[in-house]
Amino acid sequence: MSFTSEYLAGVYETVCKRNPGEPEFQQAVREVLESLEPVVAADPSIAETGVIDRIVEPERFIIFRVSWVDDNGKVQVNRGFRVQFNSAIGPYKGGLRLHPSVNASVIKFLGFEQIFKNSLTGLPIGGGKGGSDFDPKGKSDGEIMRFCQSFMTELSKHIGADTDVPAGDIGVGAREIGFLYGQYKRLRNEFTGVLTGKGLTYGGSLARTEATGYGVCYFAEEMLKVMKNTDFGGKTVVISGSGNVALYALQKATALGAKVVTLSDSNGYVYDPNGIDFDIARQIKEVERGRISEYAKRVPTAEYHDGCRGIWSVKCDIALPCATQNEINGDEAEMLVKNGCIAVAEGANMPSTPEAIEKFQTAGVLFGPAKAANAGGVATSALEMSQNSMRYSWSFDEVDSKLHDIMVGIFHNAYDAAAKYGCDGNLVVGANIAGFTKVANAMIAQGVCY
Ligand code: NDP
Repeated sequence: MSFTSEYLAGVYETVCKRNPGEPEFQQAVREVLESLEPVVAADPSIAETGVIDRIVEPERFIIFRVSWVDDNGKVQVNRGFRVQFNSAIGPYKGGLRLHPSVNASVIKFLGFEQIFKNSLTGLPIGGGKGGSDFDPKGKSDGEIMRFCQSFMTELSKHIGADTDVPAGDIGVGAREIGFLYGQYKRLRNEFTGVLTGKGLTYGGSLARTEATGYGVCYFAEEMLKVMKNTDFGGKTVVISGSGNVALYALQKATALGAKVVTLSDSNGYVYDPNGIDFDIARQIKEVERGRISEYAKRVPTAEYHDGCRGIWSVKCDIALPCATQNEINGDEAEMLVKNGCIAVAEGANMPSTPEAIEKFQTAGVLFGPAKAANAGGVATSALEMSQNSMRYSWSFDEVDSKLHDIMVGIFHNAYDAAAKYGCDGNLVVGANIAGFTKVANAMIAQGVCY
């Protein structure tokens, strides 16, 4: 699709010129700008506020050296990032990713998406993201700890409970958050809610671990109910990934009556026609930190297939991509459509390429984009911030019920915004417009030079 609005085309051109060689960031900006066409058409004077020109430029982007010593006494050097993209509606909020593929483009795409996702939750949180090209795979606990301490030594200068509150993402779970939090506390001598995803003994929230995966299912359930008058009951579900999001999407989809037949990692996928057993998968991934191939060794009905992309050839009613960006391309989307898939809800960030999204939408497959469908994690992080501020903890059921209501609210927010601008049922457009409108209004109210 090319732009109808000259103004939006100009904004996009500037972004590409200013951020050369950053395809993920350009892709994320393009998708949002395309969705804003009806907003600009309805109110061309928005161009004069410059709010769209401003929203695509991060307020601050910090890049730093992270040096640490490995188990052999050798000095290792990685690069750390934190983008503080937008603070119009609250402190910057967004996860930290540790993965060799992390670079400026990936961090900026994630930080940009986070602005709209956080706005959609209805909670007062701005957009940020961070991470490093450090590869946690195969590292000892001691190496992970030394890396996290070095990373936080610099990051601590830029964050704070009312400024910027990081959380986990790929490669950052409870262990890493613990090491990061310990170092922040040592440096600052403050016990504050500066990170979310903390352990339950030191300020964490019940249901945060489950939140993103559960949230994807709550969102998908509402989408299926409102748009196709159906639910998860008796459906076959394909889930990619086997990390935090994938595992808890598996648990909730199963509880809602579906049969989840796959999980994957970057090496391959497992297929179990009887349905993947959550307890076994969790034991392998969360407790033993093993590879998903191990599942097929323990469960006789399961098969392991080398190569993660083959997962989209598995026949299913619902697909929940929960691994990483651009994991479903146009051909793979076509395969899902041909095999009868009726709904896709994105657990990972930007897992579908623009070509894949077009295939789903053209074929009438219900499509829940990441910034709406996976917002449950950050929403529950915001609930963790509230509990930290109150010095109080809610029960699992209280947090889970708030999460459920937030996800249902996000669906309707996106669905209604799409309808208002004549794009009925297009949740990509709806989520972008609803997320944008709140942030843009706040930016305009706060003046240009804030
Ligand atoms: P984890 O690190 O717990 O798990 C990531 C999973 O994805 C692993 O199975 C990993 O396999 C796989 N994976 C990572 N990179 C690739 C790749 N290049 N190709 C194929 N598979 C890959 O991360 P999360 O579950 O936390 O995050 C998954 C996705 O969900 C990410 O896109 C993240 O941004 C998004 N997300 C996470 C939230 C959260 O609360 N955790 C909140 C909102 C979004 P392997 O072990 O082989 O690398």
